[in-house]
Amino acid sequence: MTIEVRNIHKQFGAFTALNNVSLSFPAGELTALLGPSGCGKTTLLRIIAGLEHPDSGQVLLDAQDASARHVRERQVGFVFQHYALFKHMTVFENVAFGLRVKSRSERPSEEQIRRKVKDLLELVQLDWLADRYPPQLSGGQRQRIALARALAVEPRVLLLDEPFGALDAKVRKELRRWLRRLHDDLHVTSIFVTHDQEEALEVADQVVLMNKGNVEQIGSPAEVYNHPASPFVYGFLGNVNMFHGRVHEGVMATGDVSFDVPDHDGVQDSKGIAYVRPHDLEIDRYTPGAEGIVVKLRRAHAIGPLAQLDLERTDNAELIEAVMSNERFSHLHLKEGETLVVRPKRLHVFVDPAEV
Ligand code: ATP
Repeated sequence: MTIEVRNIHKQFGAFTALNNVSLSFPAGELTALLGPSGCGKTTLLRIIAGLEHPDSGQVLLDAQDASARHVRERQVGFVFQHYALFKHMTVFENVAFGLRVKSRSERPSEEQIRRKVKDLLELVQLDWLADRYPPQLSGGQRQRIALARALAVEPRVLLLDEPFGALDAKVRKELRRWLRRLHDDLHVTSIFVTHDQEEALEVADQVVLMNKGNVEQIGSPAEVYNHPASPFVYGFLGNVNMFHGRVHEGVMATGDVSFDVPDHDGVQDSKGIAYVRPHDLEIDRYTPGAEGIVVKLRRAHAIGPLAQLDLERTDNAELIEAVMSNERFSHLHLKEGETLVVRPKRLHVFVDPAEV
């Protein structure tokens, strides 16, 4: 099922939770709604589900206006951060619940329910827990059961609101890989709310970046990561260094150094900020005349495959975070306090023409 929202606006009193949001969710894809707390992700999900009504705008399911359709008629399955499994029912009965409450004409037979629940529990790889009660499960197991329960009624849309948010980091990582594999098998159109950029980039086919009730960017994980449309997106998708300076006719001057920024050929003396990811910096020991930004190594943290370096520019005291392979770090024998030179291999400059 395709989902489209058109010009959705939602106010809570004077507060604008969603500001004229328009978006498409392709059939069979997994879309991550990503953004900081309070940006409107959950509100948008609830509006798609029919649990909340927009002040204006439309929700289209398979190109049909669904605005007047009740939650039950939208064929959506939900999984929330705080799963609402019934504590007094076994895992089996929890998964069977949605089938048992169907109207008499649609309700499957007891034998069909038994087979279906068994299949779903196998799908989420927890068939051995069928007779347990929710308090006897781990958090990760409960979320997998919640997912099996949501899938039992064969939803045409699956809405997941921070489904792994309450779990510890290791379990989260396992479950998101598992969710991706499950999605690859089932291909149910799914929307996944998260504020964790790593989770969104790893799991989703399409990422929607939201900020203060607006959509900042939509694209594949690679597109949004490699070509951020705004400083907000750049900053939200991982660590980033910012070099402040001025841009004039394709050259950016920052501190004592200048970089060619051919994208900005036409810019006349304007304020600009260059964004550079820590792993996009080339680092060498300083030698007189070396080109690049001269820095002092303040601190190095070398564990596992990567060494993380905290650097301080000698020209303007701005701090820079850099990452290099631990192998190269050991090879260079870098010491704290040493003078180095860094060159951005890739940078992205945002110019503010209003700020001349
Ligand atoms: P989080 O990641 O913290 O869940 P979110 O991006 O999902 O955030 P929403 O839950 O959609 O954000 O909320 C968006 C904004 O609307 C928040 O500032 C929230 O306080 C506000 N809000 C949400 N529901 C209501 C409500 N029923 N009444 C008043 N304000 C609300």
